[in-house]
Amino acid sequence: MIVILRPNSPISTAEGKAVMDYLSAKPGITPHSHSITGTGRTLTEIYVVGDVAGLDQAEIESLPGVEKVVRVSREYRVIGRHTGDVRASGFTYNDVRFDQQSLHVFAGLCAVDDPANVETMMRALRDNGQVCTRMGAYKPRTNPYSFQGHGARCLPWVFELAGKYGIRVIAMEVTHDSHVREILQVLEETGHPTGVMLQIGTRNTQNFELLKEVGRQQELPVLLKRGFGITLDESLNAAEYLASEGNRNIIFCLRGMKTNMGDPHRNLVDFCHVPVVRHLTHLPVCIDPSHSVGSRNAGPDGILDVMHATAQGVVAGANMILADFHPKPEEALVDGPQALHMDELTWFLEDIGIARQAYEARLARAQRQN
Ligand code: PEP
Ligand code: MN
Repeated sequence: MIVILRPNSPISTAEGKAVMDYLSAKPGITPHSHSITGTGRTLTEIYVVGDVAGLDQAEIESLPGVEKVVRVSREYRVIGRHTGDVRASGFTYNDVRFDQQSLHVFAGLCAVDDPANVETMMRALRDNGQVCTRMGAYKPRTNPYSFQGHGARCLPWVFELAGKYGIRVIAMEVTHDSHVREILQVLEETGHPTGVMLQIGTRNTQNFELLKEVGRQQELPVLLKRGFGITLDESLNAAEYLASEGNRNIIFCLRGMKTNMGDPHRNLVDFCHVPVVRHLTHLPVCIDPSHSVGSRNAGPDGILDVMHATAQGVVAGANMILADFHPKPEEALVDGPQALHMDELTWFLEDIGIARQAYEARLARAQRQN
């Protein structure tokens, strides 16, 4: 059960406190309060766990501080969509709005290598009107002898270059809670020239201790990748871990499933799940066509497979795209074979624009029907 307080009755007021006291006094019930800042207002929600069957919904709704009570009928208590749910969805981070209506492209380097390549990437993004990117500093690698990423030592110059080119959000994978502390510290030391969205990779989707740690901090939003060998339900429960620890600024990312049934793609592209995640949850949905497709192959029509996969996700309503680019893919230290070239960025963005128009036309048609 979720009890939503009136905007003028947060927990600090007598009405808000009375609601908490009422719930705490019930046997077998534990209330946890969360405050959520939406576009227009700040909402206080009380998550009520335990033996909720015996609670009287009408009585709770009659308490002066209460706006609404939502009975949570399914799993995904915090991230899920529930009947009568009036909770705001999405979030604003560093002046960029992320929700189920927005669309942002995070083109960038799979792995940070040298300042020249990072600067070339950032400049191309700025010249194409982009304010988001991806930059991997901590790389989880299959082979222990492969390049593991520059780690914390590249963060100061990566953040400063991002600031120089007006980049507001960098998606950056973390594989250990010490990485979160390092990122927060360097952001502080460099004076927050940019922002970071913490990425949890597909190999860590069920690293529950990492999820709890990342969920406990609320400064940085989180991009959670779907686990490549587990069910969608299991991956959504991983997102619920983040939310249940207090961080609701989550984007869920589809990145393909590991099976040779997807060959010759690197993973079996799962972008038809974009609308599924959007109706099961409030989360904005990202697609990662680079790690799904894994190559620069082009069809007989001259369109790259990565762009075809991207279009499929966008036409189905995706809200974010994570894509690998590199100034010299043949020299990239990680995932060069799937990186798009710098001079393909404008084409890629225009192709996304075409797919988005198709989605908007489909949306308008559906609205006439419903
Ligand atoms: C990545 O985005 O760089 C990455 C390693 O992705 P995934 O976790 O989906 O393999
Ligand atoms: Mn990669």
